[in-house]
Amino acid sequence: MRAPLDLDKLSQAIRAGDRAVLARAITLVESTRPEHQALARDLVQRLLPETGRAIRIGITGVPGAGKSTTIDTFGSNLTASGHRVAVLAVDPSSSRTGGSILGDKTRMARLAVDPNAYVRPSPSSGTLGGVAAKTRETMLLCEAAGFDVILVETVGVGQSETAVADMTDLFLVLMLPGAGDELQGIKKGILELADIIAVNKADGDGVQRAKAAAAEYRAALHIMAPKSRVWSPPVLLISGLANQGLDKLWEQIGAYRAKTEASGDFAARRRAQGVKWMWTMLQERVTDRLKRDPVLKARLPALEADVASGRIAPMVAVEEIATALGL
Ligand code: GDP
Repeated sequence: MRAPLDLDKLSQAIRAGDRAVLARAITLVESTRPEHQALARDLVQRLLPETGRAIRIGITGVPGAGKSTTIDTFGSNLTASGHRVAVLAVDPSSSRTGGSILGDKTRMARLAVDPNAYVRPSPSSGTLGGVAAKTRETMLLCEAAGFDVILVETVGVGQSETAVADMTDLFLVLMLPGAGDELQGIKKGILELADIIAVNKADGDGVQRAKAAAAEYRAALHIMAPKSRVWSPPVLLISGLANQGLDKLWEQIGAYRAKTEASGDFAARRRAQGVKWMWTMLQERVTDRLKRDPVLKARLPALEADVASGRIAPMVAVEEIATALGL
């Protein structure tokens, strides 16, 4: 950070929608330096009354499903109709591969230069928990800055999908056309997370295959236990490239919001997420503290080796550690 930070000025500028200041505040949130983190906490707390008004939409799909194409088109439609759209990403692999899924802003060429959009790459540090925590805080800053639609993109692998579903109001799963075989490869878990499924690339030669895929997903959803009492996930056909079906998608997002708000599920999901975030952060903090404990640090390598070789049962190792720490 450059000059000393004045939190009053910073929060005012964010409320006024100053993008340069927003970017600076997000950098603060993403910093691992303890003094920056303390400032970031104060800032987020100060802005908290201005947060929560956006619709938070998680978006997943395997690489090549058309996430960036669709987000670019969908986001541009929304800004054209007066919305302010922030695009964030959760990609814990970005530090390892050296390239974030959103690192290249040309992937969202229109939104990247749209004054009513803000595209932020995934924080590129550390664990999924760390990346998710920073994305959540960034989301709150964007809300305070007046963005009313937050799109959180994730790559369709691993636990990052659950992390994104846990920070959003609605989880949108993009699928590729291709019936039968394709469905075999779909993890059941992803359908369980989905609030809306959109089969992308339903254009040109793809239309028939997209329709067939949609029918398969509908059938698969049908035999699954419903996730909600008030909402059955619709399966839509879209084309991010040709800008088709995206108005219907927005309509369904509105319908989802209306229904879940009326039933109380919308607010309940956010409340539960807040408490879960607290516990997740606390667990990370405690684990981090444990790992740095000098007593434990000295003993840990030998204990791990003993557990790995089967000489000591894991619960016995835990007991020894807990006793050493006075727990
Ligand atoms: P991502 O990896 O999920 O972000 O996918 P991309 O948005 O980069 O798209 C992967 C490829 O699919 C690109 O070549 C896109 O042009 C293409 N693509 C994306 N959306 C559509 C679509 O709606 N229709 C067609 N035909 N191609 C698409």
